[in-house]
Amino acid sequence: MNYCTQCLQPDTRPNIKFNAQGVCPACEYWSTLNVMDWDEKRKILLEICDFGIAHKSWGYDCIIGVSGGKDSTRQALFVRNVLKMNPLLVCCTYPPDQVSDRGAYNIQNLISRGFNTVIVGPAPQTWKKNMLNGFYKYGNWQRSTELALFTSVPRLAIAYQIPLIFWGENPALILGELGVRSNGYDGNQMKWANTLAGGDPSWLCVDGITKKDVLCYSYPADEEMTRAGLRIIYLSYFWKVWSRLENGMLAAVHGLDVRDDHSETIGDILGVEALDEDWITVNQMIKFRKFGFARVTELVCEEIRFGRMKREEGIPLIEKYDGKCSDKLVGNFCDYLGISIEEFWRVADSYTNKEIFEKDKKGSWKLKYPVGVCHAR
Ligand SMILES: [Zn+2]
Repeated sequence: MNYCTQCLQPDTRPNIKFNAQGVCPACEYWSTLNVMDWDEKRKILLEICDFGIAHKSWGYDCIIGVSGGKDSTRQALFVRNVLKMNPLLVCCTYPPDQVSDRGAYNIQNLISRGFNTVIVGPAPQTWKKNMLNGFYKYGNWQRSTELALFTSVPRLAIAYQIPLIFWGENPALILGELGVRSNGYDGNQMKWANTLAGGDPSWLCVDGITKKDVLCYSYPADEEMTRAGLRIIYLSYFWKVWSRLENGMLAAVHGLDVRDDHSETIGDILGVEALDEDWITVNQMIKFRKFGFARVTELVCEEIRFGRMKREEGIPLIEKYDGKCSDKLVGNFCDYLGISIEEFWRVADSYTNKEIFEKDKKGSWKLKYPVGVCHAR
């Protein structure tokens, strides 16, 4: 396990490659922000808007995927108020017994700003079975729910014949996830992100679940997207300042309700994302056991790149809070999926990466590698 020499990104992130100087792709991108031709970028963005306007349907010239979870407020307001476009919002919701009051409030808050919003609600029974399937098969209960979230937007774009989709973060630039094969703003290959794995839902068709049940999880095929002329555009490419902190603050000014939980219970130091349900924290804890990093590392890395935090200030925050999750959350998660706490830890242990973790004297898993230390390559 090795760390980027500039931020605290580890090389254990799937689909990442550091350069010869040991710098991660996200830091490489950040270093170009001050020398980029922003006028040229603006021109590209306006041309994209013209494409949307030329192909509008029912008066809508673009679609934006939103949630009550994090940065969609910024995207929706920017597209309507700054780009002067007429967006239709699409929101794939969690089942009623999973969505948090805060998440329900946040999506209502966004809609109340005057947006027409299409809500997609996959059946809770199938949803829950899929979560359990992903938990066992990949150690990632979000595997199916992310698929539904990412699928709902292009599906609706095809159905409503509105071919322009605005998305927020380009994971290749912002995180260094190179699987998405993007030139910077083109998101048409986003289904190749690590957890979407090409958008194929066939692994969900087990335990009595049929093709009909996975409609909401079936990402459109390339041919369908080409036929519909879809263009998925990452807005983050066109913003000089894109970070969880800025996005969260801007959304909060516009009424987003953020978390007030303690960092140690939710493995988070800002509390501005994953607001619409609580068990993403459980997933982040398992992700930490797989790859040795989770949300706090990502937040700290952004703060380091923006020069608001020193590398050595970030290390103790990661050591203290990354991958943390309270027993209460684990208990609630197990109740929801109908599994025992023992079974949960058996699965979590099976996904713990023994190459980078070892057990301490108390029997707890600890990273073998000190956070932030770069090894010779
Ligand atoms: Zn870096």
